[in-house]
Amino acid sequence: MAEKHILVTNDDGVTAPGLLALVQEMRPLGKVSVLAPDHNWSASGHVKTLERPLRVRQTQLADGSSAWCTDGAPSDCVALASLGFLPEKIDLVVSGINPNANIGHDVTYSGTVTAAMEAAIAGINGIAFSLDRPEDYNGVIDYAPAARVAARVIKLFMERGFPVDLVLNVNIPYGQDDEINGCRITRQGLRIYRDELIRRQDPRGRPYYWIGGDTPTGVVGEGTEFDALQAGYVSITPLQLDLTAHTMLEPLKKWEW
Ligand code: MN
Repeated sequence: MAEKHILVTNDDGVTAPGLLALVQEMRPLGKVSVLAPDHNWSASGHVKTLERPLRVRQTQLADGSSAWCTDGAPSDCVALASLGFLPEKIDLVVSGINPNANIGHDVTYSGTVTAAMEAAIAGINGIAFSLDRPEDYNGVIDYAPAARVAARVIKLFMERGFPVDLVLNVNIPYGQDDEINGCRITRQGLRIYRDELIRRQDPRGRPYYWIGGDTPTGVVGEGTEFDALQAGYVSITPLQLDLTAHTMLEPLKKWEW
């Protein structure tokens, strides 16, 4: 089997430690290229930058290896790479490791997941990896166990093959190797956001706003990502970009249009 060309990107920026951990685990699995945003784009959603040029520059990861970074969004990174910035054909786009879980409705906000979605649009396999860091955890994050999980997931993924128009969304519980119980295939659950609009005044008396509030929670439905993560399992959710609400097709056809 020819060596696979793996593009690693993220939404936290090229200097994020989660990216480096992932890159290091991907190297034994193929030829790795890195093209990631030059700053944090978390919760930027699916972006296509059309109104300004994109710049790409060469940089180095903390281990001295070479990487590319751009002022574009995570999905722009995938578009740039697949449209020819990287001359070699890309076989797989791996995004992450995000320091927070991407579950339920998060997937529509997530730059980590939408980078993988951009791969699906380009006809390339895409996988997103996120770490379910405990809400109250503020120490240095150890990405190594999650990166080892990512390597195992990708090995199997490459062996078995997967439709290029779909995406795998992988969320990994935070802990050491022996604290991670295994993998569960899950469905997308429901997030509960506790957003609040916070209004303040700047020094010139003009109002400004923050979307604040408490950390979101979720509905722990059976078979969901929440359920798996809570039980200490890696959650693997196959996602599709077809957002059609199939249950509404027939009822809507009966309306008197
Ligand atoms: Mn992020």
